[in-house]
Amino acid sequence: SSAPAPKGLKRPVKVCVRVRPVLEREVENGCYHGCIAMAHERVYISTEDKPVLIGSKDDPPPEGVKVYPGFDGLLDQDSSQEDCFQVAGRETVDGVLWGLNGALMAYGQTSTGKTHTMVGDKSRPGLCLKAAAHLFSEAGLLGSQIEVTASFLQLYLNHITDLLVKDGHEKKLKLREVVEEDFVDTRVEGLSSRPVKSMDDVEALLEEGNRRRQQACTALNASSSRSHAVLILNVTLWQGTEEENATDAKLYLVDLAGSERVKDSCATGDRLTEAVHINKSLFALQGVVAALADGNPFVPYRNDPLTQLLRPALGGNCCTTLVATVSPAQKHSRESEGTLNFASSCR
Ligand code: ADP
Ligand code: MG
Repeated sequence: SSAPAPKGLKRPVKVCVRVRPVLEREVENGCYHGCIAMAHERVYISTEDKPVLIGSKDDPPPEGVKVYPGFDGLLDQDSSQEDCFQVAGRETVDGVLWGLNGALMAYGQTSTGKTHTMVGDKSRPGLCLKAAAHLFSEAGLLGSQIEVTASFLQLYLNHITDLLVKDGHEKKLKLREVVEEDFVDTRVEGLSSRPVKSMDDVEALLEEGNRRRQQACTALNASSSRSHAVLILNVTLWQGTEEENATDAKLYLVDLAGSERVKDSCATGDRLTEAVHINKSLFALQGVVAALADGNPFVPYRNDPLTQLLRPALGGNCCTTLVATVSPAQKHSRESEGTLNFASSCR
C-alpha cells in the first residue's frame, strides 16, 4: 500500500450514526415512542419518556435530552441504502481503489439494522454489495484491470472459522502477523478465498456463508447475533498489462456482534461466556480506535482477535468507517445511549 492517501482523510476512523425506521410490528405492538432525532448535524436522544422537540441550532437542549455532536455522517430513518453508501461507504471503497486498506463496520444493539446496513436484501443491497459494485464499475471507468478475491469468516468466542467451506465451523483458524517494512499485516492461516467478478458473485457468496453461519449457530445452540461476521475483499488493480505496478488492498466488511448488555443475572453458562467475549472484543475495538484518535503511539491491537484481524485497516495509511446503528424506540433508549457513547469515544 504505497499509494498516496486520497484527500479527505480527516481521522483514523470515520464515525456515522444510522437510525432505523420504526418497524411495522413495533407500531402494531404499540410499544413505540420515538426517542431519537437528527438535526443541526447532531444526534438528540431523549433519556426520559417523552418525545424529543428540537428548537434552533443555538438553543440549549431541552431537559432530559442528550446531544451528540461531531459525527462524520448522519443517516436518519428515511435514509436509503444508497445514501448510506455515499455517506459511510464510498470514501473507504475509493481508498481501496487507491491501494489503501479499509474497513466498513456496523456496530449496535441486535435488531437496529447492522445486517440491513452491511448486507441488506435483493431489493435493498447494503454496503457489501454496493462496495463490490463500486469497485468493479470504478475500475472500468479508470480503465484498470481489477482482480478481487473474497473470504468470509466468523469470529465467535475467540475462534475464527471459515464460512465458505463445508463444516468450516469445526475448524479453528489461526491468525498470523506478517511484519512488513513499516506495516503489520495479518493473515488467517488456511482461510479459503474465491475469485469474484461481480456484485452477484458477492451476493451468492454471502448467502452461502450466512446459510452456513445459521447452521453452525443452530448446532452450537447459539444466535448469529453473538458472533462477528467479516467479509474480506482482496483487491488488486493494475493498468494495461503492467502487473508489476499493481496496487493491492484489503477491504473488511464487518457485521459486529450485538452490543447489547447482557444482564449478568439472566445470563449463565454459554450465554455468559458469549457476553464476556463480545464485551471484550468491542471494548478492544474502542480502545484501538480511541488510541488512534488520540495519536497515542501505543495502539493495543493485541488485546483481542478482532482488533488483531482488522489491524491492517486500523491505523496507518487506511480509511475506515464505523456505522453505529440505533433503534428509534424509547424502550431501547438506554442501549441507544450506550451505542452513541461508544460512537463518540471513537472520534
Ligand atoms: P441487526 O443485524 O442489527 O440485528 P437487522 O439488520 O436484522 O438488525 O434489522 C432488524 C430489522 O429491521 C430487519 O427486519 C430489517 O429489515 C429492518 N431494518 C433495519 N434497518 C432498516 C432500515 N434502515 N430501513 C428499513 N428497514 C430496516
Ligand atoms: Mg444481524
